[in-house]
Formats: sequence, structure tokens, C-alpha cells
Amino acid sequence: MKVRSIRGFHDILPEDIGRWHHIEELAKNLFELYGYSEIRIPALEFTEVFARGLGTSSDIVEKEMYTFTDRDGSSLTLRPEGTAGVVRAYIENSMYTKTPQSKLYYTGMMFRHERPQKGRYRGFYQIGAELFGADAPESDAELIAMNHNFFGSIGLSGSVTLELSSLGDGECKPAYKSMLTDYFNGHKDRLCEDCQRRLGTNPLRILDCKQKTCIEISKDAPKMLDNLCESCTEHFGRVKDSLDSIGVPYEINPKIVRGLDYYTRTVFEFTTDQLGAQNAVAAGGRYDGLVKELGGPETPAVGFAMGIERIVLLHQQVVPEGFGRRVDIYIAYLGDEARNAAFSLAHELRSAGARVGADYGGKSLKSQMKRADKSGARYTIIIGEDELSRGVVKLRDMEKSSEDEIALDLKSQP
Ligand SMILES: [Zn+2]
Ligand SMILES: [Zn+2]
Repeated sequence: MKVRSIRGFHDILPEDIGRWHHIEELAKNLFELYGYSEIRIPALEFTEVFARGLGTSSDIVEKEMYTFTDRDGSSLTLRPEGTAGVVRAYIENSMYTKTPQSKLYYTGMMFRHERPQKGRYRGFYQIGAELFGADAPESDAELIAMNHNFFGSIGLSGSVTLELSSLGDGECKPAYKSMLTDYFNGHKDRLCEDCQRRLGTNPLRILDCKQKTCIEISKDAPKMLDNLCESCTEHFGRVKDSLDSIGVPYEINPKIVRGLDYYTRTVFEFTTDQLGAQNAVAAGGRYDGLVKELGGPETPAVGFAMGIERIVLLHQQVVPEGFGRRVDIYIAYLGDEARNAAFSLAHELRSAGARVGADYGGKSLKSQMKRADKSGARYTIIIGEDELSRGVVKLRDMEKSSEDEIALDLKSQP
């Protein structure tokens, strides 16, 4: 029996990796333009990092984490997202003592035991950015603008919509929560089983429920945006003004809840309708309480994460061609002596920085030319016995389908 991968986990194959590199490179270059540095954190953390960070009432902690007991009895979890681990690293390395603001980005694999569907995996990649030590609304706007510019740089501005809202802070969020509890209590028997439980743990999550009747009931529920305190209203107003001033378009969507407990004030999503159902390809927001929650000093913070698989899917639709595997020059040969010359020439050209394709399997010239074509090479060098003795090779321009003889004395090569 053949071995196989775990359901919901996937390979990224050589024919696709060019697109991945392209997207990841553009993101990294752009983030560095804004002053962000990469941080690499472990894929495995103590479970409490996520349980305390994401909140025990979140869907992720409740039912999606890959958690197991280590040999010494401690509970470990494969990271379901990046923020909690970056916050843990920020605190553990006392980064707040080094600079007043820390701008960090990360990329890597995340793990969630969800139902696999198109563009959604159980093992999936994210790129994210976190800004610590900034509470000004202009910082939220700058981070959102960076995310917006990323979609522009990969040609997806027209494919995504920025949705924006505010979830309030420690002052207005609790009051809103109890308002929401009162409202949903009045409709309790029609709520789904999950939501009846959420009513006691986190009524905000009911607004996120996908059950028909819950959506129906949620329609008339009080909205956070109508119940922000004065300072949250001012903060949100300045976020919007800053985005307006640099021409970043957005839509206000008061229904953004975000699945995680740690968000405060600004929340946003970049969504697309080009992947079937309305889908978020990036999401983030402010989380002023999380650093303290995980044992650090009170530190305002804001960040976002993007799902690379879904961005790759979207990118394929908009820019279908041009990311295949490429070599610059393919070397074909005829005969044993020519094979040795081809072997040396390939080595020399690669040392000079050219991407060279060649195989030494003694296939016919015709099948070598087929491989040259498949490799995407711009040029093919053809070495025959006759040419070898005359100190020349054939150079074929694969785009123009033209051939020239050029002087290249391969016999005198060491
Ligand atoms: Zn429900
Ligand atoms: Zn407030």
C-alpha cells in the first residue's frame, strides 16, 4: 500500500512554487519598506499560549487545535495562528525594553482541524505582520494601507474589498456585551445549540454563526458601532480619515466580529467573491489587551494575517501564466564524447550564474529537444560529434525557432 498525506494537508509542487515565491517576496519587500523585520517563531508552543491568547470560547481553541501531551506530561499545541506566538516571543525576549515600537512579520505553516474545502486546509500557510507599542489610529491606518498595497503589488486590487469596523475597548465592549446578552436572551429558544452556549460564554460569537435562524435573529441585534464610547468613536474616526487621506477605499461592515477574543477597536478584513462564497483572504485588527493577558506589560498592538493558499488561488485566476519553472539554457548532445563536453559546459555555465538544464541519459536528440521545450529554456545549445571536432556548437533560439552556429571550443576544456 502506498503512503499518503494527512487529510487537509497538501504539497506545494515545483510547478506552483514560482507563484508562491513571487507572492512571498513581494510581501517581504513591501513589509521591509514599512520598517518591519522578520521574526521566526516555533510551530509548537505550550497550549496555554493559545488558550489564554485566543480565548477559551473561540472556535479555534474549542475544537480546532492540534493538541497533544508531550513525554513529560506538558500540553503542547501546533500553532493555529501566528499572533499569540509572536506576542509570547515579544514578551519572553523583552522586546519592549529595546525599542518603543516593534514591527515584526512572520510566515509559516499553521494547523487547524477544520473541515477541508477549496482553498482551506488543515495545514496551511500564513504571512502576518504585528506592530507593538503604537496606539495612534494612524498606526492602524498605516498597517491597513500596507496590507492594501500588498494586494496592489500582486495585481489583486480589483479583486479584494477592504471591510472595516470597530469592536470597542475595555470601557464600551462589556456594556455592549451585556446589551447583546439581553437581546439574545429574548430569542433564546430559537438559537442553535452552539449559540445557546455562547450566550453564556461570549455572545459576540453568535453574530458570527452560520445557522439560518441565528443569522435571522442577529439582523436586529444592537450593533457595536452604534454603541462605541467617545474615545473609541474618535479613534475609529481618525482611522477612517487617515485611510481617506491616502485614497485607500473601504466599506464599513458592522458585522465583522473576528473569531478571536483578543481584538479591540479596529478590525478589518480583505474579502473576495471570486473564490466561491464570500471569503476573507486577509484579516486583522487591534489587540491592546493581549500582551498584558500573556504576562507582559500593558502594550497596544495591531496586526493582520493573510492566507497564502487563498491568495495563490485568486492570483492564478487573475494572472494565469508566467510562473512556471524556468531554465535559461538547455544543453542537448549527441554521442559519448559530446556528453562529456555537455557535462563540463553545464558546470561552467552554472558557475557563471545561468540556470542550466541537461540530462545525461543518452536519449535521442529529438527527445532531448522535447525536454528543452518543456523546461521553458530560452536557448538550447546542441553539441554534436561533428561540431565538437570543428570547435563549434549550435545555438537554438527557442522563441524564434532559429539556429546559429557559434564558435565554442569544448575540446580544450579541462
Ligand atoms: Zn447559532
Ligand atoms: Zn470604547
